[in-house]
Parts: sequence; structure tokens; C-alpha cells
Amino acid sequence: MFALSAVCSFIFGAIAGSFIDASAERWGQDKSIMGRSHCVSCGYILKWKDLFPIFSFLALGGRCANCGVNIPKRHLVIEIITGFIFFVIFLSLPLSKYVLVAGAHTDLILLANVVFLWIATSAILIIILSDARFYIIPDIVSISSAMAILAFSFLLDYVIPNISFLSFLATEGTNNVFSRIVPSFGQSLMGATIGALFFFSISFISRGKWMGWGDGKMALFLGALFGWPFVVPVVFASFVLGSIVGIVLMLKKEATMKSLLPFGVFLGISAVFFLIFQNTSGGQIFKFFASSFFAL
Ligand SMILES: [Zn+2]
Repeated sequence: MFALSAVCSFIFGAIAGSFIDASAERWGQDKSIMGRSHCVSCGYILKWKDLFPIFSFLALGGRCANCGVNIPKRHLVIEIITGFIFFVIFLSLPLSKYVLVAGAHTDLILLANVVFLWIATSAILIIILSDARFYIIPDIVSISSAMAILAFSFLLDYVIPNISFLSFLATEGTNNVFSRIVPSFGQSLMGATIGALFFFSISFISRGKWMGWGDGKMALFLGALFGWPFVVPVVFASFVLGSIVGIVLMLKKEATMKSLLPFGVFLGISAVFFLIFQNTSGGQIFKFFASSFFAL
């Protein structure tokens, strides 16, 4: 059951990767998500057999089924990477080893946690791709995700515990075996507020030169996702990563002090890393110390 679930995780990830790529393409250029997938060269609308992630790409040799134009390798790479990330997220949850052994309630909590982490990761990946390719962090992803997470943590705190057949979803669990992944509503709100204010003040002071306004909206999302104070190490790691990449690019003379790096990419990579790391036993210890250190 464990192996089957792990394989399914990869397949779900590959399917999600195909949507993530398409969403970043359209939202990053401010186009609507509506409309069927089509070939950018000849306008051929993809049929169901062309829509299998990875396999369709390989079966068609990376070419459009109608006009034969080369489809960018990016599609294939993104599908494989997303599949791999979904697979690792599933493995990172301690309960994943006990699918269908631990009991129905525990399985549902595992499923809720896995699906939540997959959706949050998909939103982050759309932002990473959109910022890397078009220097745009789509509001529809950052702001909607922040609002959805705040609503979800509110429901988990105040509504779900009062619904008898759902109340198990809000249980904290013992020994971190299946503790809930979403922070409490208070932590979530505080993380979102402080995260966004921190980035907005950098944008305000520099008039958007050091940091774009989209980064503040992404910090709103990540603050809600990780909660206060755990959002601090996530943001800190993104600055370290951004500085390293900036210095390497300057040494290779591919960037100067004035080059604008898409900071959402670094925030996103750091966030995906911490979403996975926090589920491991080492991550739980790190989270405990980080939370004690930054607690107000
Ligand atoms: Zn075509």
C-alpha cells in the first residue's frame, strides 16, 4: 500500500505539474486561465490522448501532434520535478508508512495533510515559475492562497471541533505523529501580517527598487502558511539563498548590484524546502527551537 501510494503521489504530481506550468504561463502574462490547452504555433487544441503528463511528451517525441513544432522541454522537466516533490512530500509525513494500517480517522488526517501540502506547494511552484520567467507574482495565487489558508485555520480552530463527525480533523495528535500542519488561526494571522509588513516596508523605503510589491503579497501567503514565528527562518533562508545566487552571478559578471533578481523564486524554494523539512523528526526539533527563539 505504501509503494502504491508513493507511485500515485508521483503521478498526481506530474499531472499537477502540467497545470502549474500552464497556470504560470497564463497568469504570469496576465491572461485568463480559461481556454483549452493548445499548440502555441498552430493553435491545435490538445486531445485527451495528448494530455498525459510525461508519457504524451515522450510518445510524440516532444513535438506537436498536428504541426510537428518542438514543444519546449520545460513542460517535461516541470512535470517530472513536480512529481518528485509530491512524492517526497508524501514520504516526509511520518504516517505515510502506515497507510490503511493506522485506522480510518488517521488515514483521513494523513490524506487531508498530504492534499493540503500538495495544493500549497502547487501555488508556490506557480509563483516560482511566473516570477522566474516574467518577473510577475500573480495576485490571484498569492492573495487567494493567503485568504484560503486563513479561512482554513479559522475553520480548524473554531468550526470543525464543533462538528462531531469532523472533529477528529482538528485534533493535535500525540508525539507529533499526526499533528496538524496548518498553524493556529492566531499564528497564521500574525505570520501573514508581520511577513507582509516586513516586505512592504522594504518596497516602500526603496520605492519598489530592492523588492517588488508582489514579494510582500507572497510573504502574506507564506506567513499564513507557516505562521508566526516559523515564517522567520523561511524568510531568512530565502535571503541567504538570494545573496549566494546574487554573489555568484556578480562573480560570473552576469549581474551587477543593480540587477533585479526575482526574489519570489528564492522565497518559493525556501518555502518548499521547509514544507517538507518540517514533517521530519529533525524538522520538528528545529521548528520547536526556532519557535521558542522568536516567540514574542
Ligand atoms: Zn502545432
